Amino acid sequence: MRRLALVGNWKMHTTPSQARELARELRERLEGVKEVDIAVCPPATSLAAVADALAGSNIAWGAQNAHWAEAGAFTGEISVSALRELGCTYVIVGHSERRHIFGESDEMVAKRLVGVTASGLVPILCVGETEAERELGQTEKVLTRQLERAFERIEEPPAMVAYEPVWAIGTGKRAEIGDMEMAHRFIRERLAARFGSKAQGVRILYGGSLKPANVAELASSEEFDGGLVGGASLSASSFAELIARAIERRNH
Ligand code: PEP
Repeated sequence: MRRLALVGNWKMHTTPSQARELARELRERLEGVKEVDIAVCPPATSLAAVADALAGSNIAWGAQNAHWAEAGAFTGEISVSALRELGCTYVIVGHSERRHIFGESDEMVAKRLVGVTASGLVPILCVGETEAERELGQTEKVLTRQLERAFERIEEPPAMVAYEPVWAIGTGKRAEIGDMEMAHRFIRERLAARFGSKAQGVRILYGGSLKPANVAELASSEEFDGGLVGGASLSASSFAELIARAIERRNH
């Protein structure tokens, strides 16, 4: 089995002072946890505060998005060079809220993936179908399109892919274990078709209403390499508990 990665996506929550506090509390609660990779992705305005609060700890941090260029006339965007200088490890690329609320195309996601990969940061490429697409039986078709477009410009696979069914994000409706396994297997097949044996090293995370109470069932599956966690990562106690339950299930 691959090493688990548990990544908190704080979305547009926390001011810098709140983020610093949350990061400090997490650091305290998770000190000494070595079995899994842990990271949090605060809003861009809180990155410096979180970098400071987590320096030297076992918790890495990431950004929720990044532009593909080192610098330039791109108002409102965040450069990979600025992220690198701050000590960033991960970058979420193609989150469904970026795709569906802000209209990011597959093409844009592909360019971001190239920029992040080339800069040495670790991309977490998000893919997933909407409820309507699922009902129409189009899950595999959507995943194929999102993955193939994202893979067009890269020669190495992304280190992490997050399967995030849009209907499960922030809704309290976590995917059933069978649905998660089917989607993760399918994603790995697409990775293998493009990158050969290197696909085996990619960690496929699940995201969508993952909570302390429902993580263990998914963690029992070999297809689950970790989670991208929204709501449940906004409280240090619930994120720490979710991580503890995932580890406990894995050690079973
Ligand atoms: C997410 O933001 O990527 C996410 C999975 O959110 P939630 O856990 O709240 O569904």
